[in-house]
Amino acid sequence: MRRKRREPGFDTLSIHAGQEPEPGTGAVMTPIYATSTYAQPEFGVDRGYAYARVSNPTRTALEKNLAALEGGAHGLCFASGMAAISALLGLLKAGDHVVVSDNVYGGVFRAFEGIFRNYGLAFTWTDTTDLRALEAALRPATRLLYIETPTNPVMRVTDIAGAARIARRRGVPLAVDNTFMTPVFQRPLELGADVVIHSTTKYLNGHSDSVGGALVLNDPALAEKLRFVQKTTGAVLSPFEAFLVLRGTKTLPVRMRQHEASGRAVAAFLAAHPRVKRLYYPGRKDHPNYRVHARQASGFGAMVAFDLGSLAAARRALNRFRLFTLAESLGGVESLACHPASMTHASVPEGRRNALGITPGLVRLSVGLESLEDLLADLKQALGR
Ligand SMILES: *Cc1c(COP(=O)(O)O)cnc(C)c1O
Repeated sequence: MRRKRREPGFDTLSIHAGQEPEPGTGAVMTPIYATSTYAQPEFGVDRGYAYARVSNPTRTALEKNLAALEGGAHGLCFASGMAAISALLGLLKAGDHVVVSDNVYGGVFRAFEGIFRNYGLAFTWTDTTDLRALEAALRPATRLLYIETPTNPVMRVTDIAGAARIARRRGVPLAVDNTFMTPVFQRPLELGADVVIHSTTKYLNGHSDSVGGALVLNDPALAEKLRFVQKTTGAVLSPFEAFLVLRGTKTLPVRMRQHEASGRAVAAFLAAHPRVKRLYYPGRKDHPNYRVHARQASGFGAMVAFDLGSLAAARRALNRFRLFTLAESLGGVESLACHPASMTHASVPEGRRNALGITPGLVRLSVGLESLEDLLADLKQALGR
């Protein structure tokens, strides 16, 4: 009797995909191949590696690992999330147009408006939670649809499958920044997206000790073009950082399950707190995009933002935290708190920020893996009665 081979489960992939014991010694962990070049056995022959900007075995292992987790055929790792995003824009040429979610990571706004606009690219910032607005923003010259869901920091949710249908009909590739959800909760390629973007700095590495980025996709021709950009512009992930992220992804599913359990509990606490004027968490039923998010993702994550109504109130709370560390970034084992308007989104003009909900009173939390009782106690004392 022949049996169909079972596909390995996600937790198994996170530990094993892309990684085999090292053939020379049997080392179970992929070594850090600290080398810039590779000996060629004879003239005109190499062993698949020629120069380390082009490829490195530690990086290759991570690229395969991330591709497997996102359900994609190709993974490419970069020196940062912004380097990955910049490589993606390296596919475009002067005159091309891009439709972008109006609320995205602040650095994306800075790069698109501060650098790529000067290269002759045009950007339309749109509320992509509204698919009609998204479709109306597309032009004949549109060559990329770029979304983030849920968004940083006000947690707006775009219907990925809906956006993918529109993009496909118009022949425009759809890129989705999946940093907040990770493939544990959301797999955009399975919903029809063409490229998935990650800042591995966040949950994938998960320990706040490296900076990196990745792109994952299925289309071989597009992957070829991106590999060309990657090796040519050279903002590649170092083997040491690749090793750290590989170590991180082994525990990604267990970390995310705990992050999410605590994230929900923190959101429930904040929802009931009298000082909280507004809460942003896609796992609350009163979130405007709750149903869309629940349909396309299997979890809600651990990023929670809330508005205390004024800069003074936000400053007071942020200065009173003892366990939550006042810092930018997110997705690490330790809980962080930040003030998006003056920190992560300072490069977004004030009027724009306020229109998006990134007000002076907004506080963003990355809920970590400390004991939940300790996190809630810290929130309670920081917010006061
Ligand atoms: C941090 C972040 C980025 C940028 O990644 P870096 O690794 O800091 O360059 C992009 N998108 C999102 C959603 C992020 O949180």
